[in-house]
Amino acid sequence: MAISRRTALRASFLGGTGAALVGAGGGTALADPADSAPGATDAATALRLLKDGNRRWRRFASRHPHESRARREEVAGGQHPFAIILSCADSRVPPELVFDQGLGDLFTIRAAGEVLDESVLGSICYGAQHLHVPLVVVLGHSSCGAVTAAVDVHDGGEAPHGHIGYLVERILPVVDATPDEGDGFVDACISANARHVAEELRADADLRGLVDSGKLKIVAARYELDTYQVNFLD
Ligand SMILES: [Zn+2]
Repeated sequence: MAISRRTALRASFLGGTGAALVGAGGGTALADPADSAPGATDAATALRLLKDGNRRWRRFASRHPHESRARREEVAGGQHPFAIILSCADSRVPPELVFDQGLGDLFTIRAAGEVLDESVLGSICYGAQHLHVPLVVVLGHSSCGAVTAAVDVHDGGEAPHGHIGYLVERILPVVDATPDEGDGFVDACISANARHVAEELRADADLRGLVDSGKLKIVAARYELDTYQVNFLD
């Protein structure tokens, strides 16, 4: 093909400057006021945008930003997301909704229990190294089924087989290392798991340099299904 993979890869993260801001058909694609919200090039600003968005979500005041025609046309030319979110795959925790963000804002990776494997790591590294995203959020949540399954195995239940067994196998060491204090144990494991994944990412050979040089911040957080709040754990 005429376009090499390298060219396509470069275009995907260098693009954007050539994108039309207004629809080719004329001035019908006026920018939504929410679309003028600034992006972020540093972790502190990125965190603030996420916290502001979650506050809107909690208060049923979501703006649903960055969905306009102009935004769609802008991001067709390139992406500049301001945060990488590794969240559980749970259908009740969609990052774009709970942080009230839109197209091109979040580089989202989802895996049950936020379990790391090579493709999750590769995706995070792409966002951090090639898209220069300054912030990674590992987002766990209350009532996480993947963590609960690992707690069941910890308590003597039979380990699931196959691919689900892989997820439990990856979460189980965190559960085993978490003090069992009765009623709050699953909750404690959920927080410990998100923290552990964030620690693993900070120590990762491919990400450590960015973290050490201050170009990348990696934090753990959890979403509460009953209050709609994201609490940052670090
Ligand atoms: Zn979950």
